Amino acid sequence: TEFISANDLASLMDASVNDVIKVCLSMGMFVSINQRLDAEAITVIADEFGYDVEFLSAEEEETEMEIVDDPEDLRDRAPIVTIMGHVDHGKTSLLDYIRDASVAKGEAGGITQHIGAYEVKTQSGKPVTFLDTPGHEAFTAMRARGAKVTDIAIIVVAADDSVMPQTKEAINHAQAAGVPIVIALNKIDKPGANPDKVREELSGINILVEEWGGKYQSQEVSAKTGVGIDDLLEKVLLEAELLELKANPDRNAVGTVIEASLDKGRGYVTTVLVQTGTLQVGDIVLAGPHYGRVKAMTDHRGKKMKKAGPATPVQVLGLTGAPQAGDKIVVMDTERDARELATQRQQLAREQSMRTKKHITLDEIGRRL
Ligand code: GDP
Ligand code: MG
Repeated sequence: TEFISANDLASLMDASVNDVIKVCLSMGMFVSINQRLDAEAITVIADEFGYDVEFLSAEEEETEMEIVDDPEDLRDRAPIVTIMGHVDHGKTSLLDYIRDASVAKGEAGGITQHIGAYEVKTQSGKPVTFLDTPGHEAFTAMRARGAKVTDIAIIVVAADDSVMPQTKEAINHAQAAGVPIVIALNKIDKPGANPDKVREELSGINILVEEWGGKYQSQEVSAKTGVGIDDLLEKVLLEAELLELKANPDRNAVGTVIEASLDKGRGYVTTVLVQTGTLQVGDIVLAGPHYGRVKAMTDHRGKKMKKAGPATPVQVLGLTGAPQAGDKIVVMDTERDARELATQRQQLAREQSMRTKKHITLDEIGRRL
């Protein structure tokens, strides 16, 4: 594939196109002003000008995820939900309530642990997966790394407070990502709660709730008493139905790293959200610059799992290092391939961090096409 013309490359590097052509000539490449250049040529030329080029393969990676699955192989999957909102409006309380209630409802298992994500069964029996890293920083950080994990955003607004700067920011982030929003009007148990005032403020920023003729579902809830939370989850499921979320469980797993750490006893512990396919104990995986064989998997209650299908969060043991949140994790056929790719990536990362060169990315280049 060819990316940009010699002329555009010159202007990206603040160089004259004549100099670019001269440099090309000196290397035995005959290039005209409007000639489009391939990746190799761009890299070589940029190097001469003291630039290093990063080719963002975002599109490639996306298509990799959406590998030609036969529609017949697709199955419904749980929606993946992120809770965002202003500080102290109740994100953590809501996440805790939902997780603990599902345990109290008799889902078997031990003590709940924060592993960065968990799955609950709603009243109607359908599963919903929550990312347990509240706040839009995590959401944005993941997106910045190319990871698209969230299907639906719950925006929490305290009904005894107002639409605040971080409420607006969270809404903006969700909208920029094209992620549908459900509004939770929290702290409804408080004497000072005035959900209508919040609805009014929301309408002022173009978030008109359904009760007022708009398109946004909202639900009054209390993360303290639990009032309204089942209804909130049903509304999330309604939103999910519209999205027709499907994945093929019968293929090698592809997922995203949610968090990773080093545990004294267990080695590297990586929370993975499987997005398509099924991850199994024994699989060889590559995650960012690390690889390994999946030794064991557990859910957020510490229960052992042999398999994890689409939209399932699992803690994975067996990686050789801690990948970053947002890194993609893929199943490889052989340990040798996985090790080789991991080594390459580590080398690349080392080289990049050593380099003091100026930097252009294909994103910039793309904008000029
Ligand atoms: P976050 O910063 O958005 O994660 O907010 P937290 O979950 O930490 O909640 C902030 C404070 O509000 C804490 O003291 C919570 O106990 C309290 N809180 C959260 N939800 C409710 C609720 O529904 N009702 C009442 N009365 N207090 C709540
Ligand atoms: Mg919190």
